[in-house]
Amino acid sequence: MNRPSKNRELESLKTNYKSIADVTCEKLRKAILEGVFSPGEQLKERELATLMGVSTTPIKAALQRLGMEGLVTSLPMRGSFVAENISAILTEVGLIRAALEGTAAYLAAMKATDEEITTLQGQIEKMERCTADRDIGRAIEANTNFHEIIHQISGNHSLQQMTGIVRQYDDITRPQALSDESQMVQGLQEHKAIFEAIKAGDPEGADASMRAHVLRNTRFLKQQGLGVGK
Ligand SMILES: [Zn+2]
Repeated sequence: MNRPSKNRELESLKTNYKSIADVTCEKLRKAILEGVFSPGEQLKERELATLMGVSTTPIKAALQRLGMEGLVTSLPMRGSFVAENISAILTEVGLIRAALEGTAAYLAAMKATDEEITTLQGQIEKMERCTADRDIGRAIEANTNFHEIIHQISGNHSLQQMTGIVRQYDDITRPQALSDESQMVQGLQEHKAIFEAIKAGDPEGADASMRAHVLRNTRFLKQQGLGVGK
């Protein structure tokens, strides 16, 4: 009998397992960013627990975590409230993401092997097909993979760790960023510029193209009013 691969079995466990606390936090973050709650609205632990079908323990943990991210304000004796400045927080997260993704692109341009360049090229071709077909669902997936591959090529684990929370914001905002046809076309052109700089072994060029790409996305989302209950 073939023994199942340790790599595959343990990896799948690692990537699929999420605690109730993690899922509760992710759902609340998404609801706040999508404007389900109004800025300044009170977040009542018991009410949220009933709505989400969990005890108040993961709700308390989530509110604390979102408090550290600035999305929730907690006042002693009064409770927790949605922050008033969600839009400004999103802009700042965009700046952080631009710096982290730019650094990943910089390192990728320094380190990419011929094989990795071929993989990235394949990803660009996939994005070209999705854009030509106006297939938004697959474009979102291909876009996520493009950024993921660049992080893998950068080979820097602490950078990947730091990108963790920022990426959770990104997972929420990306479908919106690609919901518009002209955005898809523009995004593809920017991805091509990033790819060309990595392929040419130009770290400064890769960093600059990636930053410009992420910052333009952030500006677009701001214009769309994400995070302010549109
Ligand atoms: Zn992108």
